[in-house]
Amino acid sequence: MSLRLIANWKLNGSIQFNDQWAEDFFKNFSSLNSESIGIAPAFIYIDHIRKLIGDSGINIGVQNICEEESGARTGEISASMIKDLGCKFSLIGHSERRIFFHESNKTISKKLNLANNNSVMPILCIGESAVENERNDTYDILKFQVEEALKDLFEQSALIIAYEPVWAIGSGKIPNPEEINSVHKMIKDVVQSRFPKIDLKSVLYGGSVNSENASSLFVQEHIDGALVGGASLDGKEFAQIVNIFNEIK
Ligand code: PEP
Repeated sequence: MSLRLIANWKLNGSIQFNDQWAEDFFKNFSSLNSESIGIAPAFIYIDHIRKLIGDSGINIGVQNICEEESGARTGEISASMIKDLGCKFSLIGHSERRIFFHESNKTISKKLNLANNNSVMPILCIGESAVENERNDTYDILKFQVEEALKDLFEQSALIIAYEPVWAIGSGKIPNPEEINSVHKMIKDVVQSRFPKIDLKSVLYGGSVNSENASSLFVQEHIDGALVGGASLDGKEFAQIVNIFNEIK
């Protein structure tokens, strides 16, 4: 099984936080299947998290990579560097990167290729804004984001897509699970028809997922898993989401 449950810790974490998180997570995690789980901490905690998760099989990844491989990009981290540290995946094009760091679809496309070149699984994040959603433009916006990000991708690339409506992130609001299911089906159809050689492993949903709404999402056929922000900061809560996923999928 590919990655299905990703914890996006964003700009959070500390040595003490990480220790507590691991204690709470492993106390409440009730499965032997860890291969589908990924944690994306801040870069500087990768090594600390690796020690905490030991040989559990949980994957470590990152929230972003540089669009260049090396050279004059002060403060950046490349795909080959995270590969060097054993990271298995990178989020790419998260809406917070698009909004606060002005990432374009072209930049995102370069990052996808660099991740693939380094055997790091790219998790392409797409999603419509509240205004776009109210205007019923969701499908057009998502198709555009997928096509722009994938059109320059090397043909046989592997990919995971995370559908994250911008208005659902951190807001406590989520679309109706049936609607999310239809959106995921559309995303799969677009990738398959326009980019048939791309190996789309799964389509995850992200935006205010927690242990209360997780089962209503995971019962949907095309919701293959979740990208979890706020709720993943609590080790017990994230373990419960994973447990629910393992019971249903
Ligand atoms: C995210 O930002 O990727 C996310 C899903 O956040 P939250 O779960 O807090 O809405």
